[in-house]
Amino acid sequence: EAKNSGRNCIRFYNRKMQQNVDKQIETEHQLNEAFSRNEIEVHYQPQLSMQGKIKAAEALCRWNHPVKGLITPDQFIPVAEMSGQIIKLGDIMLEKVCNRLKIWSGIEGFNNLAISLNISVKQFMSPSFVQSVEEKIEKYGVRPHMLKLELTESLFLDNFDKVVKKMNRLKKIGIEISLDDFGTGFSSLSYLKKLPLTQLKIDRSFIRDIIEDDNDKAIVRATIAIAESMGLETVAEGVETAEQKELLEDMGCKIYQGYLFSKPLPLEEFEAYAADKL
Ligand code: C2E
Ligand code: MG
Ligand code: MG
Ligand code: MG
Repeated sequence: EAKNSGRNCIRFYNRKMQQNVDKQIETEHQLNEAFSRNEIEVHYQPQLSMQGKIKAAEALCRWNHPVKGLITPDQFIPVAEMSGQIIKLGDIMLEKVCNRLKIWSGIEGFNNLAISLNISVKQFMSPSFVQSVEEKIEKYGVRPHMLKLELTESLFLDNFDKVVKKMNRLKKIGIEISLDDFGTGFSSLSYLKKLPLTQLKIDRSFIRDIIEDDNDKAIVRATIAIAESMGLETVAEGVETAEQKELLEDMGCKIYQGYLFSKPLPLEEFEAYAADKL
C-alpha cells in the first residue's frame, strides 16, 4: 500500500521520524512560498587583502521569513538539497548577484568588487547550468571575471571528466572558479592541477585552532605553498582573531574573510562597510 500511495503516505517506524518528515514537507512548502514572495535575500561578507582593502564579497543566502525573521542556510539548504529546490534557490541567488554586479559596475570603486557565489553540486550538475550562467551575465551585462563561483570538492565524487569539462566551459566564458572548504573533502593533488581554478579557500576548520594546533599550522602552510606554486590565490575563511590574521600573513595568505573583519551583512550595511575600504 505504502509503495503505491506516494511519499505522504509512507509509514514510518516511529513518531520522531514522522515528525521530521512532516517538518521537512512543511519547510519545503514554505520555501516555495518564500521563492514566490521574494523572501530570499543576499547577504555579503567582505573579503579583504593583507592591506585591508576590500577585494570581493561572498554572497550568502538568507531567508527573511515574515514571522520567524532571518533564517540562516543551515536551516533550509539541507531540505532544499533533498527536494531539488536548491536549483531554484541557486537560480534566484545568481540572478540577484548579477543584478548587483550590474549596479556596482556603475559606481566608482564598487566597479572593481567581485562577488563570490556558492554553487551546490546538484545545481552545478544540472544540464542547463552553464547556459543559465551565460544567460544571466548577458542579461545584466556582467563582466564575467567579476563573478566567482565557489565549488566544493564533493563535486569530484561525480564523473570527474564531466565536471572538468563543465568547469572549462565556465572558464572559457571568463568566470572565475574558487574551490571552497578546501581540505575537508576529497582532495587529490594530481586532480587539483587538472582543474581550471583561480582560487583556493582554506576551510574554517583549519583556521579555528591554527594558533595552538601544529597540525593545522602545517596543513595551512602547505596549502598556501601548493596554491602559490599553482598560481592560485588563497583565501582564509573564518578568521576571527588578529593573531590568526598575523600568522596567516606570515604564511603568505592573500585574502581574508571572517568575523574579525565582518559578519555577512545585508546590502546597505555591506555597502557602507565597503565604501571605507575601497
Ligand atoms: P560557506 O560557503 O563555507 O560560507 C562560509 C560560512 O562561514 C558562512 O555561513 C559564514 O557566515 C560563516 N563564517 C564566515 N566567517 C566566519 C567566522 O569568522 N566565524 C564563524 N564561526 N563563521 C564564519 P552561512 O552564511 O551560515 O552559510 C553556511 C553555508 O551555507 C555556506 O558555507 C555554504 O555552503 C551554504 N550557502 C550559503 N549561501 C548559499 C547559496 O546561495 N547557495 C548554496 N548552494 N549554498 C549556500
Ligand atoms: Mg562559500
Ligand atoms: Mg567556505
Ligand atoms: Mg567552510
